Amino acid sequence: FWEVSYNIAHVMHFIPVSISSAAAVRHIQELLDEPTRGADRPGAPDLPRISHDISFERVTFQYDGSETPVLDGLSLKLDVGKTIAIVGPSGSGKSTLLNLILRLYVPDEGRVTIDGVDIRKVTRESLRQSMAVVFQENMLFNMSIRENIRLGKEGATDKEVEEAARKAEIHRYIMSLPQKYDTQVGERGDTLSGGQRQRVAIARAIVRDPSILLLDEATSALDQTTEAAINKTLMKLARGRTMLFSTHRLTSVVDMDEIIVISGGKAIERGTHNELSAKGGMYRQLWDDQSLKQHQAADDDDEEDDD
Ligand code: ATP
Repeated sequence: FWEVSYNIAHVMHFIPVSISSAAAVRHIQELLDEPTRGADRPGAPDLPRISHDISFERVTFQYDGSETPVLDGLSLKLDVGKTIAIVGPSGSGKSTLLNLILRLYVPDEGRVTIDGVDIRKVTRESLRQSMAVVFQENMLFNMSIRENIRLGKEGATDKEVEEAARKAEIHRYIMSLPQKYDTQVGERGDTLSGGQRQRVAIARAIVRDPSILLLDEATSALDQTTEAAINKTLMKLARGRTMLFSTHRLTSVVDMDEIIVISGGKAIERGTHNELSAKGGMYRQLWDDQSLKQHQAADDDDEEDDD
């Protein structure tokens, strides 16, 4: 049950009201509106456009049924307008951190604030409107590419949809298809490659013109060439926004303004790639482990080639 509503919660982030009136989705919406899922307080104001920072103030969070907290007194200030990578060992809580910013979950202790305002005190709708999120797997629906992108912003004009696709660098490909923006995306998105699907998902995020862009392993499942190309696009799209990028692929984070390492429920290191590499702490260790694995994989490939 939680697993299902959790995944749907991610999708719901994008679904405009018109589509969410479908019975099945309405049922899911009811689940999401449960108090534990962070329903609005009566009379809650809208969130103003972010101008300073997103902060975690001594946040402790534990999933129901789990034995230990994922985040344990985490304090962190994320400055507006920066590209920030969240890295850390597997299971350290990178996705959880993003989910708390999205208010898909709420802290057991402490608070998450935007410009000093506890995000639990503002309307969820205004919070959603200020953010967009791209995941590793993004649900594309069995409808046209245009409609799939438009899910990011209810009532977006065709021009806005195309502009977003241009920014996501998928417009030219879409125009090469016989039916262009009216091309139907197969249920599992079979008409598009992995990289193209991700670009459509990015266009869907960008059409919202979010001030905060959250990327949760958004490029980790792609081959390295596609990943590098999409990361380049994302860095361009980050201008004028706050971009949080959770990933375990460290090659993606080298150019970020700041890298934050979380481990043991806390933020244990932060700095640029060069600073953290020189420091010789956990970031350096993660980096060395990953380089070693890459070399081993390359060696294995070479051996196969020799056969
Ligand atoms: P990875 O690098 O493997 O993606 P992560 O750093 O993003 O991991 P999270 O996905 O935030 O880590 O998970 C942190 C911990 O919480 C893990 O131990 C995970 O198993 C657990 N967890 C995550 N989601 C849930 C959930 N919905 N219910 C219970 N436990 C969960």
